[in-house]
Formats: sequence, C-alpha cells, structure tokens
Amino acid sequence: MKVKKFICQKCGAPKVTKIETSYVVCDYCASLVDVDITMGEKEYDPGSEKTQYFEIQQHYLDHNAAEAFERGDKQAYYNERYKFWELYLNIYPNYILPTIAPDQLEMWIRVSAHSDTYFQFKEGGDADRQRQQEANDAITWYEKNGQNYAEINSFMHAVETYKEVLMSDLTEMRKLEGLALLNEVFPLEIALKKELSSFVQMWLPYLEEESQNKLLKVTGLATEYIDLPPITIKEKPCTNCNHTLHVPEGAIRSRCPECNTEHTWGKVVCTSCGGENELPEKWHETISCQYCTSEIRVITKVFEK
Ligand SMILES: [Zn+2]
Ligand SMILES: [Zn+2]
Ligand SMILES: [Zn+2]
Repeated sequence: MKVKKFICQKCGAPKVTKIETSYVVCDYCASLVDVDITMGEKEYDPGSEKTQYFEIQQHYLDHNAAEAFERGDKQAYYNERYKFWELYLNIYPNYILPTIAPDQLEMWIRVSAHSDTYFQFKEGGDADRQRQQEANDAITWYEKNGQNYAEINSFMHAVETYKEVLMSDLTEMRKLEGLALLNEVFPLEIALKKELSSFVQMWLPYLEEESQNKLLKVTGLATEYIDLPPITIKEKPCTNCNHTLHVPEGAIRSRCPECNTEHTWGKVVCTSCGGENELPEKWHETISCQYCTSEIRVITKVFEK
C-alpha cells in the first residue's frame, strides 16, 4: 500500500487512513501531524449570506484596528483583533485546530489576538516588512503564452527572505508570556508548514512547472509517498457524534474528525513482562512499565519490523 508521507513527530507512525480535514491528525496517537495543502484548497464555504456578513464585519474591524495602530493604542488594537478572531472562528469553525478543546477556545482567541498585536507593534517589524517588500519588488517577470510568470532566481530570493522572517517571527512569538498554549496545541513545525502552505498556494499560479517543483521542495511541501505493509483498519462509530472512525490496528488514541472527541483504545502491553499499562494523559514515544519499569514503546505496529 502506498500512502502520502506524513510522519507523526510524536510517535513516528505514518498516516494510513484517508485524510478528511486539512489538519492531519495521527491515526495512532491523535497528535496534530501536519497541514495538508491539497485539502486546504477545498475551502469550507459557510454560504454566501454568512460570507457577506463576515466580509462586512471584517472590513469594519480592520478599519478600527488600523486606526488604533495609528494612535499607538495597543489595547484598542488587541480588542479589535480579539473581535476579529471571535467572528472568524464562529463563521469558519473548520479552521479551529482539532487539538483545541472547546474550553480552550476562548484562550485560543486571546492567543491569536495577542500574537497579532505583538507583530503589529514589535520593534524591527517595519524593517522585516520592508526587507520582504524589497525582495518581492525585485522579482522579475516574463510572459509565456499570454501568462505572466515569476523568474525563478529572483523569486527564490523572495522565498528565502520570507522563510527567514517567518521562522524568526514564529520562534520569537512562542517565547512570549501567555503563549505557552501554542506549543501545546500547535507545534512550531506545523505552524511553519501552515504558513508556508498558504504562501505556496498563493504563488503556484505564477510559476512554471519546474519552478513549482523547486518551490515545493524548498518549503518541504513536495508530496512524497511511502510503501506500507497491509494494515487492518477497523470502522468504529464515534461515541459522541456517531461519525465513522477509521482505526488502524495498534492505534492507541484517535480523534474524531467530525467532533474532535478523543478516543483511547486499549492498553499498552509491556514487551518485557506482558503487563498491561494504562496510557497516561501526557506521553511520548516510550513510557516506563508500571510493573517492571522497562521502557516500552507506546506504538510499535506497522512501521517497526
Ligand atoms: Zn502519532
Ligand atoms: Zn465524533
Ligand atoms: Zn513490564
């Protein structure tokens, strides 16, 4: 069986079931694994009435935020961004990270507003924006068959600049007080990938195929496939919403793509003494056996021979 290569950072398992949402969740441990660029393309449409409502509100909130920024009023800027995120996640609930529990949502809105405010007001932010603008302006364009394309070398320079600024922004932001939740629900590598995905999607139409491939490669978004031995996947109904879950044999925890409920399956059997261990709430690749203290791998099936 050939599958798209998404390897879980937490347990090392590949993604073996069909991807149902743009946030890819591990089939074996329910961690957030990746953001799927192709799923992201199939945008969730809340309907024209809601979209129109959102656009009008957004315009108004953006205007207020810009005014607050002009006045140097951080608190007012934060308030406008808070209202924006509250509205956005209400209209587009599919964009809520699957790792965010319902009682964490309010905190997530605060985190989002906080990080927007931080970037808007941060020292040196203007210099970064200017550097990015200069790199973008330096892109040369050419025409072929009535289409405009970006020349690859000048474009790659803009990509490198974008990656540098993004990486420093993301790492810096995570050091801020009150943003610890980010690391928990949205690991750095995945946040990086998410930003890169939208960047790539925006640029793909302006590149010829060879350049497209190069861009996908340097951003780590090229699709690779890996071979897997046959895997038994069982269908189980979600106990909360009845959505059909696809649970591969050996899975410890899965998350319902429909309602986000976490399900824990079975116990971890110790390879040394055969003792059955309950899975602790927080766990890594290995846990210590409660009977013989051996280090045991939580997930061993499929990808370990
Ligand atoms: Zn995993
Ligand atoms: Zn469910
Ligand atoms: Zn043991």
